[in-house]
Amino acid sequence: MVGFVGLYGLSLDRRLKRLARCSIRAEDEDGNGSDDGLPAAWPMLNRHIPGDLTVRTIAANGEVSCRVVTATGLVNAAASVQKTSPVASAALGRAMICGLLLSAGKKEGETVQLELRGDGPLKTTVAISNGRGEVRGYVGDPSVVLPPNSEGHLDVGKAVGRGILAVVRNHPMWKNPYTGLTTIVSGEVAEDVASYLADSEQTPSALGAGVLVDKKGEVMAAGGFLVSMLPGATEDSTRIVEENVQSLKMTPTELIRSGMSATDIIGKLMKDLDPLELRPLRILWGERLLTEEALNGLKTLQVAESYPKYYCSCGRERVRRTVVLLGRKDIEDLIAEQGHVEATCEFCKRCYRLSPEEAIEALNAAAL
Ligand SMILES: [Zn+2]
Repeated sequence: MVGFVGLYGLSLDRRLKRLARCSIRAEDEDGNGSDDGLPAAWPMLNRHIPGDLTVRTIAANGEVSCRVVTATGLVNAAASVQKTSPVASAALGRAMICGLLLSAGKKEGETVQLELRGDGPLKTTVAISNGRGEVRGYVGDPSVVLPPNSEGHLDVGKAVGRGILAVVRNHPMWKNPYTGLTTIVSGEVAEDVASYLADSEQTPSALGAGVLVDKKGEVMAAGGFLVSMLPGATEDSTRIVEENVQSLKMTPTELIRSGMSATDIIGKLMKDLDPLELRPLRILWGERLLTEEALNGLKTLQVAESYPKYYCSCGRERVRRTVVLLGRKDIEDLIAEQGHVEATCEFCKRCYRLSPEEAIEALNAAAL
């Protein structure tokens, strides 16, 4: 008896009680789908939302790299589609922001998967991002509600709990993915990812990621920054970075709420690290180099910007490939009980229904 199978973000509930409530019809591969019952936030997925921005730069001496992400729109879209509680929105948003920060400036096909497997009520928090600035994610239980922590904030640490943080970097051209495992130190996500970077990738970093949620559950601000010391960084550069991070005196969401843009924030973090001699930035997929005019007082700093978005790549073919992993017997049982096989994408809540013929055809094609 298969109770629940989670594979590649697709869930199949054998009893289909939960899925029976799903009124969403998936778009088929020809694009001939129905929009009946789509969540109101659906149009916010798979497109850039104004205000969401990734900027990155590197110090002229090559010792420090810095990335800043503002992601209020895409975190809000994810929270709306997945109907996350405030604390679940915060955990999911922080993980996605960390993912975007880690994958910024990477090759187009390179992906970064962050997975916090904690013993808290959220169970698992997953974020997958790539070098194009696309990100998606989910939490094991989006309905978790907890009292605020001792500082009166959303208790993300308790919701995530303690356990393992797995970071998987992959690229289609690589023979194997690079997987790093580390212990969750606080469950506050950014602290855990910073600890991973220091321990597993030997990259001392200052990492901040925050999500501000109002009483109605709306995401008011979301963003973060990552300042990394590159190999050979001197004490001087490290000291300047520490001073700059301390001089922020605000959390990422407070900085955004105060009206600062991603470019303003990167200017503060890279203060005194922008000698006049410019280090040319290699522009990657989807990026553009900011002009001097756009940079205001940062004429000596080269900054590349790109546009992150919440993107889900699920599709009928992927569902077919996942469904066959249930095995012939379970699929035949499902068809006998329900007359079809249904699956929901954890990332965008799209619901796919396979007819008996389609499910059997998928099984036969996989020779199972
Ligand atoms: Zn999806």
